[in-house]
Amino acid sequence: MSNLQEKVNNLIGKEDLVRGEMILSRLEYVKRVEGKEGFSALEEKMKELDLDINTDDMEDWKSVGSAISVLLVSREIFGWKDKKLIEAGEFSAKTMTTTKLFMRKITDLQFLIDNISNHWKDLYRVGDLKTNQKAKSLEVTIGNFNYEKEECLFIKGYLKALIGLFSEKELEIKEEECIYDGGNSHKFLINWK
Ligand SMILES: [Zn+2]
Repeated sequence: MSNLQEKVNNLIGKEDLVRGEMILSRLEYVKRVEGKEGFSALEEKMKELDLDINTDDMEDWKSVGSAISVLLVSREIFGWKDKKLIEAGEFSAKTMTTTKLFMRKITDLQFLIDNISNHWKDLYRVGDLKTNQKAKSLEVTIGNFNYEKEECLFIKGYLKALIGLFSEKELEIKEEECIYDGGNSHKFLINWK
């Protein structure tokens, strides 16, 4: 069995849920950057891996493993570097209806920071997100969330774009700690320049 097949099987075996739109927006991103042919290649590969994603019914909550598998398969067949996975997260933050509905309630950066952990629950039904605000930076820690590194990159891009929507100053984000690098959780540090 290939390494990718093993990873996909392992992900699909988990029962944790993600907003269906989190899958759709990833597929949409593949279409944008890889075109129709690329998208067909992705569909074919997913079929080969027995990864059944029914895009006609995406209103509700879906397997988080399917969403992450889209990133893994894309990385394998298109040779995506980390940057592309970060951009996939940025694309989702800028285009998803779920995000737009959340942002409609947000009036300023502080209000956004105070509500990021609530917004996490709009997206994932697994994992805990906590924020720790400092003078010129923000720490976002995600615990109980163990899948694949590709999802960390997606989240990094998502947070960057989400917070960037309300930041006048340019921001930098890095994942300071990660469970895949020996950490206890995923810790993202956001700095305003
Ligand atoms: Zn991580």
